[in-house]
Amino acid sequence: MVVPTRLPLVRRRCHVCASDRFRASGKFRVNANHKVLDAWLLLLCAACGDTVKLTVLDRVNVRSVRAELLDRLHDNDLGLVADLLQDPVLQRRNRVALDWDDAWRLDTAGSDHLDHEVVDVSVRFAARIPVRPVRLIADGFGLARGEVERLVVEGKVVSAVRLGGKLSGDFTFTFKR
Ligand SMILES: [Zn+2]
Repeated sequence: MVVPTRLPLVRRRCHVCASDRFRASGKFRVNANHKVLDAWLLLLCAACGDTVKLTVLDRVNVRSVRAELLDRLHDNDLGLVADLLQDPVLQRRNRVALDWDDAWRLDTAGSDHLDHEVVDVSVRFAARIPVRPVRLIADGFGLARGEVERLVVEGKVVSAVRLGGKLSGDFTFTFKR
C-alpha cells in the first residue's frame, strides 16, 4: 500500500522569490457578498512564505453550496484541504500540479513473500500519488532498482500494466525467482 505521510507540495512559481514550491497553509478564505460566495485555499511559498490563493468556489450562489462543505471551509478542515489539493478539477482550474517527493511511504504486509518462488503482489494506493513501480518493487523486495529493471526485461517481474513509467493507481504484478 502506498500511503501519504504528509500533504504534497504544490508546484507553482512564486512571484516574490522565484521558488517553485508552495505548501498548504491549512486555511481557507471564504468571502460572502450578498448571495454570492467565493472560497480559496491558501498556500504559502515554501521559501519566502508569501501567500497565494487557489480558487475553490468562484462566485457560486450560496444556496447551491452544501451546508456541510461550508462548515468545513469555515473550520479550516484539514481533511478537506487534503481532498481539494488532490482534486484534478481544482488543479486544472488553478493550473497547478502536486509534488509528492518524500510525502509517501510503502506499507508492506510483512516479509513472508520474500522467500516464495512465485509471488502475486497487489499494490494499492491510498491517494493518487505518482510513483515508479520499479521503485516500489525494489523497496518491497529489498532489491536495487537496476536489479528490478533487469528482472522486468527477463520476464521475471510481469504485470498487465507498464512498469517502466509512473503509476498512481492500483496494480498487480507477479514476481518469479
Ligand atoms: Zn517565495
